[in-house]
Amino acid sequence: MKLPILPYLPQALANLLKKPVTEAFPAGPAPTGAENYRGRIAYDPTLCVNCGMCMKVCAPQCMARTQKPAPGGEPGDMEITFTFDMTSCTFCGLCADFCARKAITLTTDCMMTGTKKEDFLVSGTFIKKAPPKPKFTPEQLAAMKAAAEAKKAAAAAAAAKAADGDGTSAAATTGQ
Ligand code: SF4
Ligand code: SF4
Repeated sequence: MKLPILPYLPQALANLLKKPVTEAFPAGPAPTGAENYRGRIAYDPTLCVNCGMCMKVCAPQCMARTQKPAPGGEPGDMEITFTFDMTSCTFCGLCADFCARKAITLTTDCMMTGTKKEDFLVSGTFIKKAPPKPKFTPEQLAAMKAAAEAKKAAAAAAAAKAADGDGTSAAATTGQ
C-alpha cells in the first residue's frame, strides 16, 4: 500500500535544517527597535546646562529635577539631578528635539521590563558651578561709573568750547 505524502511534509523537513527566524532572546541578545525607533531615553548630564526646556515641553511631566548644594564644592555650586520616568513617557521625542545641547536621545531600546519602579527610571547628575564672583565691589563700580561720567561730561564741554571758538573765528572772517 502506498502512503500518501502529506502536502506540508517536504517543507517541514526542509525547515528542520534551517536556522530559526525568530529571536533567540532571552537565550541570545535582546532585540532592538528599528532605525529611528523612539525607545528608552538616554540622558547625558555632562551636556546638560539645566535650562529646563525639556521639562516645559513634556506633556505628561514625566521628568523630575532636584537641586541641592554640591557636597564638597565651592559655595554656590549645585548638584543637579534629572530623572526621567519611562512609565509615564509617551516617547514623543519632544524633549530630545528641544534640547539645544543634545543631552537627550531616544534609543532603540524597546525592552523595558522590570520588577520595580527604579527599573524604569533614567537618571543623571551633574555639578553646576557657581558663577564667578564680580571683580569689583559695588562701591568700586559706582566710583568707576562716576569717573566715566565725569570724563564724558568734560569731553562734551571741551567739544562745545571748541565749537564756540570756531564760530567766533568764522564771524571775524566774515566781518573783514
Ligand atoms: S536636558 Fe537639555 S533641555 Fe533639558 S535642562 Fe538639560 S540642556 Fe536643557
Ligand atoms: S519623550 Fe515626550 S513624554 Fe517622554 S520625556 Fe520626552 S517629552 Fe516627555
